[in-house]
Amino acid sequence: MTTNQTKAKCKYCDGQGYVSERDCSGNVQRESTCPLCAGTGTQVFNPATE
Ligand SMILES: [Zn+2]
Repeated sequence: MTTNQTKAKCKYCDGQGYVSERDCSGNVQRESTCPLCAGTGTQVFNPATE
């Protein structure tokens, strides 16, 4: 077994790598790099750090 790490699509940005901030009318105000996955779109779950 060599797969100790599990990569999954980032839930916060839905795998896009960035998040969009919208105003109340649904228009995109700006896009910023996802703070959880640092723009990679995936999250790595390392069981050793839990
Ligand atoms: Zn993300």
